[in-house]
Amino acid sequence: MIRNVIFLLSILVFCACQQSGENTTNEIEAKPEPKRVEYALAIHGGAGTIKKENMTAEKEAVIREVLNEALTVGETVLKNGGSSLDAIEATIMAMENSPYFNAGKGAVFTNEGKNELDASIMDGRNKNAGAVGGVTIVKNPILAARAVMEKSKHVLLTGEGANQFSKEQGLEIVDPEYFFTQNRWESLQRAKANDLGFNEYAKSIHDSKFGTVGAAALDKNGNLAAGTSTGGMTNKKYNRIGDSPIIGAGTYADNNTCAISSTGHGEYFIRYAVAHDISAMMEYKKIDFQTAADKVINGKLKSAGGDGGVIGVDKYGNVAMPFNTPGMYRGFVKPDERSVLIYKND
Ligand code: ASP
Repeated sequence: MIRNVIFLLSILVFCACQQSGENTTNEIEAKPEPKRVEYALAIHGGAGTIKKENMTAEKEAVIREVLNEALTVGETVLKNGGSSLDAIEATIMAMENSPYFNAGKGAVFTNEGKNELDASIMDGRNKNAGAVGGVTIVKNPILAARAVMEKSKHVLLTGEGANQFSKEQGLEIVDPEYFFTQNRWESLQRAKANDLGFNEYAKSIHDSKFGTVGAAALDKNGNLAAGTSTGGMTNKKYNRIGDSPIIGAGTYADNNTCAISSTGHGEYFIRYAVAHDISAMMEYKKIDFQTAADKVINGKLKSAGGDGGVIGVDKYGNVAMPFNTPGMYRGFVKPDERSVLIYKND
């Protein structure tokens, strides 16, 4: 009899809980997944001492135009259902072929008066990656990076070996003279004449021209990819290689979190594993992309004295573009949105 009463009471309590919506097992209700945009692409053309007062209206117009063109190239691939990797490759190639960026055609000079180019690419689906450092005759280093990823057993090839591999892959080879631009040459002469140490020069190099380029994309299939290409830093010596071809520092992509490309003083980006750190914060701490990227760029990196920024796209298509310098050439495009920005308060 008592057992029956207890049984009946339990059923009553259970029903009351169900009606009031109470959860008897203390389970936390899962939040609904945010909606993913159809596609998204973010790009940068370098960060640094970019201030409105040092900019002419003409120069600003040209910058906005070339960034817009690069966005259009990548968006066309994504709109037509192409992969994020193909969009990254096409966008970065367009910027490498422009003399305005410190990548491909507009690369800066080393202390010895050479152009040594670095690039990397990463596929967020499977964490495959490829990179080249210090190539001197490859017209589009981003293609060499992709070939390393897809056609070799390695991740990073450098110097003469990377040049040789690119030739064997049938990539377009140019005379090193192809990379000469008067502006970059003059920058090197100024750096040498002022006898600026590498770190001091790092603070001043960005004020006159465009910089390193990078792109991050989400395609219609939900796949993320990122890539970066650069001539490195003016007046670099001893075959110095920066962060741009270092996976986890200059480039990172993971379909579970985000895709990122960095720009800035590479030595800091390498030591702080910047791109991977942002992704890891999202994964381990479950924080959103914008917050994670801000914490690394305007928190850790800034307090360490590392100048620069990142652009990226997360798995839902949210874009973040934080930087700790006065400006960063940047932009993004989604199905109904497009933006090209230069200064902090743009
Ligand atoms: N991060 C590049 C490097 O250190 C330079 C840049 O982004 O401007 O080689």
